[in-house]
Amino acid sequence: MSDYFHYQNGELYAEQVPLEDIAARFGTPCYVYSRAALTDSFLQFANALQGRDHLICYAVKANSSLAILNVFARLGAGFDIVSGGELKRVLAAGGDARKVVFSGVGKTVAEIRLALEADILCFNVESAAELERLNQVAAGMGKVAPVSLRVNPDVDAKTHPYISTGLKQNKFGVAYTEAVGLYRKAAKLPHLRITGMDCHIGSQLTETSPFIAAAKKILALVDVLAAEGIHLEHLDLGGGLGICYDDETPPAIGDYVAELLAALRGRGEKLILEPGRILVGNAGVLLTRVEYLKHGEEKNFAIVDAAMNDLMRPALYDAFHNIVPVRLENHAAPLPNPPPHAGEGAIEKSTSSIYEVVGPICETGDFIGHARSLSIAPQSLLAVLSAGAYGMSMSSNYNTRPRAAEVMVEGKVMHLVRKREEVEQLYSGESVVV
Ligand SMILES: *Cc1c(COP(=O)(O)O)cnc(C)c1O
Repeated sequence: MSDYFHYQNGELYAEQVPLEDIAARFGTPCYVYSRAALTDSFLQFANALQGRDHLICYAVKANSSLAILNVFARLGAGFDIVSGGELKRVLAAGGDARKVVFSGVGKTVAEIRLALEADILCFNVESAAELERLNQVAAGMGKVAPVSLRVNPDVDAKTHPYISTGLKQNKFGVAYTEAVGLYRKAAKLPHLRITGMDCHIGSQLTETSPFIAAAKKILALVDVLAAEGIHLEHLDLGGGLGICYDDETPPAIGDYVAELLAALRGRGEKLILEPGRILVGNAGVLLTRVEYLKHGEEKNFAIVDAAMNDLMRPALYDAFHNIVPVRLENHAAPLPNPPPHAGEGAIEKSTSSIYEVVGPICETGDFIGHARSLSIAPQSLLAVLSAGAYGMSMSSNYNTRPRAAEVMVEGKVMHLVRKREEVEQLYSGESVVV
């Protein structure tokens, strides 16, 4: 558990706010973020990069809540976006378009226009066809588009196959062997200006060696280009640094950055990084309440009010999230304000058991955790840890479930940064055919 979520007299706090207070005030399921934790992780990058020309572009898709984007924008962050929608979010949150890099294999004409109008820092181009399209759209607008090619370095990130992106067989980037040819081509297109090279090899990496291997391959290409008179202003080494969900031992931010800087020794290009998960993952938890305990023939189920629509990672990648009680057993006390849906006889004695922690969605894949030893009763509050990254941003309305509320804690203060959705909002754009 991060320093920002900790027990005090048997009660789990976010900074100085008891999570029970947040649940009582805003209900569950609810995402809770620690502003101090967000700031801390960002500053670890900034400090490690001090003295080097750099830009930390937070990967928006990890968690695109305006409040989180705003915290990073205030700290001077840039942003790595993968859609026009994310660009609008960044701007709405007070981010600087001049610090935005735009990645993604499928940029539409409309998205390219939007980004050119906003004057973003760079397009991270992922194919020959995209180069052509970008040149054409820029020409139509009388602009010159800043371009980096996302090169696929063909290194094995040794992570889950769904989040590995730097292998030859992946859909991302341009092939290493074709990159130089494409740079030559880009150099001839009048509405493009070559500014950099980027790569991103995958997510939740727990070792530095694949990052270093990728950096070395990228640098070799940069030198080939330089020999041809194509000089780059920046190198963007992507994101992907992993966090501890269970027993992983990813490198510390400072060590990871130090190793990258060592690999770049003697190079003058601005260094761009695109961290996502590492900045937000352990800065957030998902609060959920036990609705029912069901003791089956083979397994016991704790049915909670959060589900795969709120946190998709377990269902999608079989990902592990630690699940902890908000009040520890030997400190058990009745809830001060039972929520309205609690019903009668809500406070029952806790039963210690091995539980499948599952949501109410009609899918067997709807689980939050398997075989967890928990001492809980109906109405117990649980915190699903390390839920700050790819939690809310991957949430959906499956089963017509309104998306969770989001709260940002700052010291003793809780800020509701996103209201729980109303069911009516979910179908407000729909109509029936008469
Ligand atoms: C998702 C993504 C990132 C961030 O990855 P993390 O594992 O969250 O750090 C960075 N760059 C690109 C291009 C991405 O698609």
